[in-house]
Amino acid sequence: MTNKEAGAVLTDVMERFLCVACKRLPDDVYEKLRQCRAAETSELQRVIYDSYFDNLRRAWEMGRPCCQDTGLLHFYIRCGADFPYMGAVEPALRLAVARATASAPLRENTVDYFTERNTGDNTGERMPWLHWDILPEGSDLEICAYFAGAGCCLPGRAQVFKPADGYGAIVKYVFDAVADLALNACPPLIVGVGLGHNVENAAVLSKMAYLRPLGTSHPHPKGAKLERDLLAGLNGLGIGAQGLPGERVAMEVHVESSARHTATIAVGVNVSCYTHRRGFITFHEDMSWEQDSYKGVSL
Ligand code: SF4
Repeated sequence: MTNKEAGAVLTDVMERFLCVACKRLPDDVYEKLRQCRAAETSELQRVIYDSYFDNLRRAWEMGRPCCQDTGLLHFYIRCGADFPYMGAVEPALRLAVARATASAPLRENTVDYFTERNTGDNTGERMPWLHWDILPEGSDLEICAYFAGAGCCLPGRAQVFKPADGYGAIVKYVFDAVADLALNACPPLIVGVGLGHNVENAAVLSKMAYLRPLGTSHPHPKGAKLERDLLAGLNGLGIGAQGLPGERVAMEVHVESSARHTATIAVGVNVSCYTHRRGFITFHEDMSWEQDSYKGVSL
């Protein structure tokens, strides 16, 4: 298969994948929302959750995006070094986004920074946004597609502290971020926390954190405990779905970390909303593919 032929397959499959991913939540998110609804005791919260589920059902049945803000497209890519068509990936994803904007349809959200002109097809300078991890072995291309809506982007932040400020500063920072602006992000949220050494790597890690499949934990026991403690604390704020009184402002808190400089600790916070539209799809070196984010759904 030539690079051009592989790119055509990738474009076609990714366009269809995006058309599903903007209309339907991944199975793990849908199940988590069910659990959150069951845990809420107030009638108001149950009514809100029921309206969420009604919206999701209608969106799928009517073939429409499950939220009007279909965001900007981000792709987090893990590519084995032996995948033969690396050069085809970026142009194929750009074309898939442009085509899905018309066929899904996706709202035209993408604006050039300095001309302030809407590009009309959700592509533009460095958009869709691609983050690559090249894996030293393997020949698979794993793509995580994420629709970054504005309400979820607004609370995002990162800061560097001195180590003497300790974990307490990190915890306060996360609480402030969620309490200040996350109410605009249609809770219950998935809160991603990145722990690193500067704003750049903490921010990237926080994004990777909330893209992780639900039900997974940080591999280090202290990281996993921090996730549990933050979740319990945030859910003790008395904020529920849609920012109204309730018991679950967050579905889960995920922490990702890197080694740090001796003299800095950095924290990044990113949140995602109840319509957490992220899906995983894997292409093999013969360009066959599989996805298990939406079981039983054919593209
Ligand atoms: S926060 Fe999420 S559900 Fe709410 S408007 Fe934005 S994209 Fe839609």
